[in-house]
Amino acid sequence: MTQAEREEIRKRVENEIKTLRESIDTLTDLTSDDEVEPDVNDWFTTKESNPGKDINELALSKAKQRLRILNVVLNRIDSKDYGICTVCKKPIPFERMKAVPTATRCIKC
Ligand SMILES: [Zn+2]
Repeated sequence: MTQAEREEIRKRVENEIKTLRESIDTLTDLTSDDEVEPDVNDWFTTKESNPGKDINELALSKAKQRLRILNVVLNRIDSKDYGICTVCKKPIPFERMKAVPTATRCIKC
């Protein structure tokens, strides 16, 4: 993989990290809002009555997980084993690394 190719992948990863940080901020706001005061007369108030919050919490934990992986990729881009298949030890085609910067295996493996 050439230096220019690494830089291209790095830019893609950095862009995705930026987008992820923005959505993590938004989702954190959405999920950290104080619970709406339950209506004491509403016997049916349950956690399920606010499904939107669960969806946001799920999206938030997925976004955080993805962010962690991308940060690992960012640290690995300059290492010589980045872009090398962990199974057959052959270089992974640049097109694949560009499409899937987190890939650690070639298409065959
Ligand atoms: Zn392979």
